[in-house]
This record gives sequence, structure tokens and C-alpha cells, in this order.
Amino acid sequence: MKNKKTILTSTNIMWTFVFIMLLITSSVVMKLTIVNSVIKEHKKIFAFVQSELKGLDTYKGVDFSKMSEPAVRYVPREKLIEIFMAINEVVYDRMVKEYGQARVDEMVEMYKKEVIGITDSNDVSEIFIFKDLEPCERKAIVAHEYTHFLQVKILGKIKLDDKDKDNKHTYREMQGGQIQTLYEERFCKDEEAG
Ligand SMILES: [Zn+2]
Repeated sequence: MKNKKTILTSTNIMWTFVFIMLLITSSVVMKLTIVNSVIKEHKKIFAFVQSELKGLDTYKGVDFSKMSEPAVRYVPREKLIEIFMAINEVVYDRMVKEYGQARVDEMVEMYKKEVIGITDSNDVSEIFIFKDLEPCERKAIVAHEYTHFLQVKILGKIKLDDKDKDNKHTYREMQGGQIQTLYEERFCKDEEAG
């Protein structure tokens, strides 16, 4: 009797051990699968943005095949605001001189509340996306920021002393918005319906 019980117990321990190992293994595999599918998803979004830009006059003759996508960091809003403020600290005084304190304050407050994606044209190795968005909206914002990434890569940074900088900023922002909308229309509608 005693022996049998001991065997049973050790069998139980063994099974528990196997089970825990399986749990650990499966969670690792799951995490790897998730990371992998996110990478694939990013590549798909990047390919979409490239194919849309390719058709535009601005990007005629550009060899997109050599470009690869920047890293995407999903961050909380506080982090986005921190990044936004750090980028704008450099140009803050100049902005105040040009647009006036009131307008700059207003713009900063608006961005603090509404910022959901950032591409820093001084460092395009990574882009930053607000992490708490609906999955498809998040992808659409990634498409928007990928657009800015490619604009910086291909057209270059918009210089502070560029006389035409307001128009250029508006043009680039509109393009980012258009790509984002196109993405939503093509990929997010079904998801909502389903
Ligand atoms: Zn934008």
C-alpha cells in the first residue's frame, strides 16, 4: 500500500512537472507567435504604404525595394507626451516667436490630449504609437506614421528656416491622413462588420 501511494505521488509530481513545463513552453511559443505575427503585420502595413506612395508624382522613380520599416513602439499616452515635449523643446522658442505664445500653448495642449502617433524626423529608427487603440485603428495609425517615416527618408527633413515649411508640413500631414483613411477603408470596415 505504502509503496503504491509513493509511486502515485511521484507520478503526480512528474505529471505536474510536465504540465508546468508544457504551460511554460506553450506560453513561450505563444509569445513568439504573437511577436512573429506582429512583425508580419508591420511588414504588410509597410508594403501597403509603399505601394500607395509609389503611385504619386512626388515619389516617381524612387526605389522602395531597398527600404525597410522602422521599429514600432507601442507606448502609453504619458510616454507619447514626454516624447512630443522633448522633440518640441528644441523648437519651442522659435515657434513662440513665429506664431505667438497663445497659439503655441493652444497647439501644445491639443497635442497633449490627442497625440496618438509620433515620428521624430531627427531619429526615424523607430516610431511611437499610442498603445490603447482599437486593433485596426492602431494599424491605420502605424500606416500614417510609416508615411511620415518614408517622407523623411525620401524627401528629407523639413528645415526650420524653410520658407515653405508650413505648406510642406500640411502636405505631409494630409498625405499621412490619406494613407490612414485608405487603410481604414480597405481593412477596418470588414473587421467592424464582422
Ligand atoms: Zn501625421
